[in-house]
Amino acid sequence: MDANSIKQKALDLGFHKVGIVAVDEQSPSPQPLQRWLSQGYNADMAWMADPRRQDIRQVMPEVRSVISVALNYYTPQAQSTEPDKAKISRYGWGRDYHKVLQKRLKALATWLEAQGEAISTRIYADTGPIQEKAWAQQAGLGWVGKHSNLITREYGSWVFLGEVLTNLAIPPDRPHTEHCGTCTRCIEACPTQAITEPFVVDANRCIAYHTIENRSESISEEIAPHLQNWVAGCDICQEVCPWNDRFAQETDIEDFQPYPGNVAPTLSELAQLTDRDWDRRFRASALRRIRPDMMRRNAKASLDGPRS
Ligand code: SF4
Ligand code: SF4
Repeated sequence: MDANSIKQKALDLGFHKVGIVAVDEQSPSPQPLQRWLSQGYNADMAWMADPRRQDIRQVMPEVRSVISVALNYYTPQAQSTEPDKAKISRYGWGRDYHKVLQKRLKALATWLEAQGEAISTRIYADTGPIQEKAWAQQAGLGWVGKHSNLITREYGSWVFLGEVLTNLAIPPDRPHTEHCGTCTRCIEACPTQAITEPFVVDANRCIAYHTIENRSESISEEIAPHLQNWVAGCDICQEVCPWNDRFAQETDIEDFQPYPGNVAPTLSELAQLTDRDWDRRFRASALRRIRPDMMRRNAKASLDGPRS
């Protein structure tokens, strides 16, 4: 099938970038992931070790192509520097990105299946054992930077990724080349030295892991003093990246405009958030992954430590 009509359809549905990978010939090497796992850098995120993540045929045996797509989610508000304000990672400011991506991915998959009776598809949006960033690089969308996020030339790294897997053979794109060069800004800026070497992030040391995924009662002593008021994720390594500095541009997707209160809430209000307030406040938000007790824990840890 013609790759251009698939790409045009993806763009018509509002995706900002789209590229195609031929499974097998262009599949990403499983070795970097294996090495990362063998070092224990996934912390307690057992799903990262799911063997299907290293072999896409275990997800969809008949898959022949991966259509990789990206949505720009940047909005121009800045993080507050006031000492009593909490910082929430940009990915969580607006409507839950899973919902926004899935709606468009479903439309793309339905359209594709309508092009021929034997065409089958599966869609993913940060929801399955797929090495999304590695596939996106193979699809030519951008490259995985030294901070381990995907960087695009047009939007920097403020992009959400999704995939349509299909049994259809489609002419593929060329993988993107890597353009970090000699830059090490993200490595130097990371307050917990979580980027142990270029392209390798140790989740055990990463504020994003501790504020979103770590379910323990308290934030560890090694991490807590370095939170710099981050209560939901951490964007430091992306904020300092020259590609974001130069190329971030405001999204045209209304759903990604921040909900009131998601940019710069106060630490004290989050530290005392009731379960009911949490439910009301984070409706239709990706921040629901951070349970109310975790949000209170994160805010308290920043209140107890040195402030930014
Ligand atoms: S998200 Fe924050 S803690 Fe994690 S690697 Fe980036 S700067 Fe470091
Ligand atoms: S800050 Fe520099 S090294 Fe880090 S991802 Fe951006 S360009 Fe690459």
